[in-house]
Amino acid sequence: MVAVKSAKVPTMECETEHFLMAQRQLDEIAEEMGLDRELHERLRYPKRALIVTVPVRMDDGTVKSFTGYRVHHDVTLGPAKGGIRFHPEVNLGEVSCLAMLMTWKCALMGLPYGGAKGGIRCEPWKLSIGENERLTRRYTSEIINLIGPDKDIPAPDMYTNEQTMAWIMDTYSINVGHTVPSVVTGKPVSIGGSFGRTEATGRGVAYCARRAVSHYGIKGDSPTVVVQGFGNVGSIAAKLLHQAGYKIVGVSDVHGGIYNPKGIDIPRLFAYLSEMGKVEGFTGSTPVSNKDLLELPCDLLIPAALGGQITEENANKLNCKIVVEGANGPTTPEADLMLHERGIIVIPDILANAGGVTVSYFEWVQGMMHLFWSEDEVNQRLEQIMGRACDQVLELATKSKLSVRMAALRIGVSRIAEAKRLRGLYP
Ligand code: GLU
Repeated sequence: MVAVKSAKVPTMECETEHFLMAQRQLDEIAEEMGLDRELHERLRYPKRALIVTVPVRMDDGTVKSFTGYRVHHDVTLGPAKGGIRFHPEVNLGEVSCLAMLMTWKCALMGLPYGGAKGGIRCEPWKLSIGENERLTRRYTSEIINLIGPDKDIPAPDMYTNEQTMAWIMDTYSINVGHTVPSVVTGKPVSIGGSFGRTEATGRGVAYCARRAVSHYGIKGDSPTVVVQGFGNVGSIAAKLLHQAGYKIVGVSDVHGGIYNPKGIDIPRLFAYLSEMGKVEGFTGSTPVSNKDLLELPCDLLIPAALGGQITEENANKLNCKIVVEGANGPTTPEADLMLHERGIIVIPDILANAGGVTVSYFEWVQGMMHLFWSEDEVNQRLEQIMGRACDQVLELATKSKLSVRMAALRIGVSRIAEAKRLRGLYP
């Protein structure tokens, strides 16, 4: 029996299927760890959620309204932290679910932050640069009361980048009348960003992959790897694992994938990609669809594209030993269970892709101190924090027989619960 049951009538408007998934995950771990009923109840919903209409003058002179969101799930340990995504599937439930995952992720990494997420429902690939800028700036001014270096610090997520963060930082700064670099992270280095932030998520994924390989004793000198998604996360993970002597046998991007059981020459693939704009057609490889790519034989599968890629439909067809979640939520809960039963290890998103928010934290700290670190220093500190979290999670999973996801959640949730218990319930 779970301590608190979901009501049939939604308690909050965020209770979409997506959000309920994250809530059920919390219910499950709360039951497993015997979490205090009151603390559990307080963690089941976002603390606050803002929905805004963002009117934008389009290039053809018409005005179009977009819907934007910013959700704070919890702020017990510090300011809310989390990305902003531009995508057609953005809605209150999805953003609330991802905000909750940010709470567990930050707590697991030992960062002094709560969890947040934001987004705008749009098709970013259809916007011109000017439309994108006007959308970003108007959204920023609509959520301006929620954000700030001590309140909530946005960062990039799907289809947002350094330039988006520069516009948010500028809009916020103009509104308050002075420059406030620390209102966002993931900024360009020239305006207060950190070295190593762009590569941080992929670097963290590669790091977790290597730790998992040694922890679970994967044999052979060059473990084989398949990477779904060759964007900022997947391509960096592939590059670093290739450098570490791993054999990358399959990769894909939005257009499709390629397979080469002898190993793909990743540096040459980067050059090919910058010329052709896609991975398909790369010398010596066979084309493979994004769907089939997931079923290729390999030691490590890294889903680093969209959420919901490993489902009930394909979980039994996966042909890997370890899944390392580069994306947020690439495995559905049903698939997760099936993989666990098949003995396939899943290194969950809240651990595997936490390199991004960890270096975001470094960027925020450097900005507050006005003292900037070298790239080597950033990477060393990232390895320290990732290493500590990986060791804690893998050790707990092995000792307790929990899945790695449940072990990671347990550590994250228990830290927030302890902080909430100590702070008490106001009034
Ligand atoms: N959007 C990233 C994530 O999901 C980074 C968040 C941040 O840096 O604040 O973890």
